[in-house]
Amino acid sequence: AFESLASDFYGFENQLTEREREFIANLRAALETELKPIVNEYWERAEFPRQIVDVLHGARAIGLGFEETAPFENSAVFRGWVALELARVDASVSTYVGVQNGLALGAIGICGSKEQRAEWLPKLASGEVIGAFGLTEPDSGSDSAQGLRTIATRDGDDWILNGSKRWIGNATFSDITVIWAKSAEDGQVKGFIVPTGTPGYTATKIEGKQSLRIVQNADITLENVRVPESLRLQNANSFRDTAAVLRETRAEVAWAAVGVAVGAYEAALRYAKERVQFGKPIAKHQLIQDLLVKSIGDITASIALCTRVSQMLDAGEQRDEHSALAKAFATARMRETVARCRELMGGNGIVIEYDVARFFADAEAVYSYEGTREMNTLIVGRAITGEAAFV
Ligand code: FAD
Repeated sequence: AFESLASDFYGFENQLTEREREFIANLRAALETELKPIVNEYWERAEFPRQIVDVLHGARAIGLGFEETAPFENSAVFRGWVALELARVDASVSTYVGVQNGLALGAIGICGSKEQRAEWLPKLASGEVIGAFGLTEPDSGSDSAQGLRTIATRDGDDWILNGSKRWIGNATFSDITVIWAKSAEDGQVKGFIVPTGTPGYTATKIEGKQSLRIVQNADITLENVRVPESLRLQNANSFRDTAAVLRETRAEVAWAAVGVAVGAYEAALRYAKERVQFGKPIAKHQLIQDLLVKSIGDITASIALCTRVSQMLDAGEQRDEHSALAKAFATARMRETVARCRELMGGNGIVIEYDVARFFADAEAVYSYEGTREMNTLIVGRAITGEAAFV
């Protein structure tokens, strides 16, 4: 039950507790049997396999980071491994969890009052409530720290929201969406838990995605959407609080990027041992070994970086620039790795049934969401030079 991941070359997983490793082993087994066999078919149809929600929530993979919902005490490194395991099978399903767990549940866990946490965290962890996180807008992506156009206006005990959102994951079927909006009163960004049945709220599926086809993303419009003050996240007073949520999720996306690289690498390694050219398995060709070794090197370096950035979270030392560097570095290494694995497989590298084509395409969205490489670079650049170069 405690078999280590073969692509964990330096045995980082051994640092987890026995309980954490057992959890990972069970999750790995569930994903292999329930998700892996159906994933390419759903990817081609650009459909989300709703049955997987029960598997993920049943495995208690959601809400691991909060005392209200964690099944046992655990570390941020462990939670990173969970993200890796999910993405190793499929980046879209890991994105579903990233949204439900890190962004929606995380926003309420980090920015909600005690009462809000008590009400929403257990429901989001069990899957009774599906959540989404609406920050990005049609005209505000990278500059959402200052460029949000969605406005929240106070009206007695309520707030009225007007604006639009783009790219919002899970929002085609979410029960609640955390909407980030600028307050008309003080110009600061605030967060609202918006039940999606509220009049004036509409979500439309974004069609035609060629990356992360399984994840459902939506355009949202908000027309005089009325929410009570009790649904305003009580501890979200400026974008700095939104950024606190993103700081943690970025580190988890870095872990997920390693998972994407591992998924592609494992498929490529298997293929290299089976495919015969010039009278021998291509794994015996030196240049093929070079592709594989570069990949395991990138994976190993990324796991080391991710392990440290998660240890810093647990130690209370993680700053925005730490998770920004992890996200930028791990996603860049992921992108190179999936391209090498695609190359190793020749023509079959572009055929869905060999898996690598899916990882290759999905890597592009993981590279750009939760802060593009440029944005995360500028966050690190600001930290090391003392100069903000965003505008
Ligand atoms: P833009 O901001 O328009 O950027 C375009 C290019 O310009 C990028 O290369 C960028 O790096 C570059 N650029 C911009 N400014 C600068 C600068 N100052 N210096 C140098 N280069 C710059 N958002 C949510 O709120 N919730 C979600 O659930 C969600 N899920 C997503 C899922 C997917 C599949 C995708 C693709 C996106 C998702 N997003 C979500 C949005 C995502 O976070 C944004 O796409 C991302 O932040 C980039 O914004 P943009 O696409 O508007 O690109």
